[in-house]
Amino acid sequence: IELGDEGDESDWTVRPPVVTVMGHVDHGKTKLLDAIRDANVIEGEAGGITQHIGAYQVSTEVEGTERKITFIDTPGHEAFTAMRARGSQSSDLAVLVVAADDGVMPQTIEALNHAKAAGVPIVVAINKIDKPEADPTKIRGQLTEYGVIPEEYGGDTMFVEISAKSRINIEGLLEAVVLTADASLDLQANAVQDAQGIVIEAHLDRGRGPVATILVQRGTLRVGESIVAGPAHGRVRAMIDEYGNEITEATPSRPAMVLGLSAVPGAGQSFLVVEDDRMARQIAEKREARERAALQAKRRVRRTLEDFMASMEKGESQELNLILKGDVSGSVEALEDALAKVDVGGDEVSIRVIDRGVGAITETNVDLAAASDAIIIGFNVRPQGKATELADREGVEIRYYSVIYQAIEEIEAALKGMLKPEYEEKSLGKAEIRAIFRSSKAGNIAGCMVTEGLIRRNAKVRVLRDGSVVADNLDLASLRREKDDAAEVREGFECGLVLKNFQDIKEGDFIEAFEMVEIPRG
Ligand code: GDP
Repeated sequence: IELGDEGDESDWTVRPPVVTVMGHVDHGKTKLLDAIRDANVIEGEAGGITQHIGAYQVSTEVEGTERKITFIDTPGHEAFTAMRARGSQSSDLAVLVVAADDGVMPQTIEALNHAKAAGVPIVVAINKIDKPEADPTKIRGQLTEYGVIPEEYGGDTMFVEISAKSRINIEGLLEAVVLTADASLDLQANAVQDAQGIVIEAHLDRGRGPVATILVQRGTLRVGESIVAGPAHGRVRAMIDEYGNEITEATPSRPAMVLGLSAVPGAGQSFLVVEDDRMARQIAEKREARERAALQAKRRVRRTLEDFMASMEKGESQELNLILKGDVSGSVEALEDALAKVDVGGDEVSIRVIDRGVGAITETNVDLAAASDAIIIGFNVRPQGKATELADREGVEIRYYSVIYQAIEEIEAALKGMLKPEYEEKSLGKAEIRAIFRSSKAGNIAGCMVTEGLIRRNAKVRVLRDGSVVADNLDLASLRREKDDAAEVREGFECGLVLKNFQDIKEGDFIEAFEMVEIPRG
């Protein structure tokens, strides 16, 4: 974390490393975070009950010296990448958890990619070694193939065998974290100046108002000081640590829950101490305006394949970063293989697939794309949850395909600077199929509820099942509201519709309506 510390060199002290725990689902991230916290509960002052405030600090003895480590207490890399996408880096180091009875899985690789993109060193925790079927040697071998080479094989990554559940070798893991931080990071901070740092998480508490867990990155934060945190401001009324104790000051790498803010800031937003609350309010207002302007500008400078092409012509871009998502692993592999063979007619440009996976496009995919300036290619898959919203906000381009050669052709053409796509897809809305009526004359009639936007009679539609596309580019044979034909039906209303040339619908499927709109040129 570089914040351009200033001041006297004698004021600089070593600060604890800030660590994120990442890994595949069910490999034990939550259990590990619990085990580490519990092992250190004695460190909390008497009477303190550990609380989840989004981060906690523990201490451990390494080579005879008492050392502290800060853990970000949100398992998974969501927090990590959300913060990176905002341009602030929360963590210095990542612990990659891999279950010894399972092995390297898609999210293990995803986590690895996130750590690489952030440029942070990793420590591998081989978990669940208490299980009889645990095979730690296999894990070492698998990760070696991904370029993560254990120290014992001549590499520079520490692998530690643990059991989060049986609490085996947690201390060994903490030691590895400290040793890795010492070997590859220069964690110095000036604790004397005014505090700066980032927001880890924040929410509105019914009794206490806006509550934000902050991480001090330099300087010392004290109760009574005025701060600006994202668009929020206020005087620090109280600070609470992970044991529920009130504290009066927080030094670099210390997480603390802060009370007294005017609003709820966003995770990853920065905070700083200012002279007084009047100044804090002014800065907060300016910041909010700037953020709004930046967001609009970002929307405008949305990086697309076409932009890439344009910057290539100016001799700027070297690499086109892609994230591939497909409905089955075969299609993702086929796409990647085909992309590897794309001839862009020169060595100056290259395609780099930074992540790939099976299933719907998630917010995590979008975060990684935003953090590494990548374009997401969805093959027979759709975005999930708030992924579309996030992509819009972050200016990440998602392109959808259902035919491999089409995807390849477009990317190839874009790289060669020949592509002039004139249309792009715009989603109109979605309707959920609640019931199906079989009519011998009309075919299967889908009784729907429009859950988003609208369904238009002459729009193109697709059928979505569990986030995957089961049929695309279809036309409607009819659209009715009650007994009448309708040109369109809006959100919140029921409708009956029949698809042209597609009858294989199920209750719970979604019908998505879309249209192709012309891309404004120039
Ligand atoms: P997460 O999804 O990565 O956060 O995984 P959890 O921490 O929720 O753990 C998933 C499951 O694995 C839970 O049922 C845990 O009890 C179990 N588990 C976690 N660590 C260990 C371990 O060291 N040994 C064994 N036997 N089970 C574990």
